[in-house]
Amino acid sequence: MKLRKAVWLSTVSAYRLGYEKAIEELRHMKVDEIFMLAVENGGPLYPSKVRPQPKNLKGKDLLTPFIKLARKEDMKVHAWIVSLNFPNEEFAREHKDLYVINKLGVSCVDNPPYIRHYLWLCPSSEDVINNMVELFLEVASQFDVDGLHFDYIRYPDLVLPEGLRNRYEGVPREEIILPRFDYCYCQRCRSLFEDEYGVDPVNLKYLEPLYGVWFKWRSQKITNLVRRVYSEVKKYDSKLEVSAAVFATPELAYRYVLQDWPLWGIDSYNPMIYHKYYMRPSNWIGQAVKEGVLRGVEVNAGILVGFMESEEELVNSFLGAINNGATGICAFVYPPPRSELKEWVRKGFTELERMG
Ligand SMILES: [Zn+2]
Repeated sequence: MKLRKAVWLSTVSAYRLGYEKAIEELRHMKVDEIFMLAVENGGPLYPSKVRPQPKNLKGKDLLTPFIKLARKEDMKVHAWIVSLNFPNEEFAREHKDLYVINKLGVSCVDNPPYIRHYLWLCPSSEDVINNMVELFLEVASQFDVDGLHFDYIRYPDLVLPEGLRNRYEGVPREEIILPRFDYCYCQRCRSLFEDEYGVDPVNLKYLEPLYGVWFKWRSQKITNLVRRVYSEVKKYDSKLEVSAAVFATPELAYRYVLQDWPLWGIDSYNPMIYHKYYMRPSNWIGQAVKEGVLRGVEVNAGILVGFMESEEELVNSFLGAINNGATGICAFVYPPPRSELKEWVRKGFTELERMG
């Protein structure tokens, strides 16, 4: 089978650069598949009936002109959709009840964890689930895409990856759970759990047996949401590929952000194996791929090319992923942060072409 040669595309940056130029560079890099940012944290990059657009876009559609150009080059396009992270001020003010609340009872709308834009929707809400279904179907019906791609489909970081812990105030260096980063304890989540288990989860101590059950219960809310969207998309058009950007390995994803992604049952996964965030060398990438592959799912390795210090390191990382069972590479991000990375990626993808 042909190995996948993909990038995540920052739509606004490509737009500023000029789409013609972007396509020319992508072709030069030997990219044949693009995960194009269609809905960013601030909202859709097209006029939407489902979610408000970012204010500065004012009715603009950034997607159609790019997709047309990509089609001419026979490139595949997936719509990359930032899902549960939605810090749109207007929406958050009107729908505060849809946003997650931590174990101390504080809404992320009033006091977001880590950074200002960490406003997250609660996956147990039917309104949130319906909004997500409508959003995916809107993109599927309005744009000529090959697939739809979830991102930020998780809870806010319960525990940050090791390499990020020193960036924010009040975050312990060890892997421990703190109530202020522990979500979601909204009234709906608490009642649903209490109806099933007879205990209000806010009263659970950390690491008592039932806390593990509550942990799993929450991960299942994400799983249910993804499955629901997946089935609606497939009903609409079974040929659309549904994929997701997920945390680096199944185990880290579960512990840090309550993603039990191998159980989601979607078509493919792009684990974000951004090694420096985990204080790992780049030869860990192959190992991480293997952990996903051994769970019996299709893995397209997400690699943060800006972390690579030489062309050789980048090429070896690509090969390490493929040799451990990845069906392809998805490079984060185009445009890359340094110009030489375009040549390095071209070299890596040339090697992939040689392999299959
Ligand atoms: Zn909730």
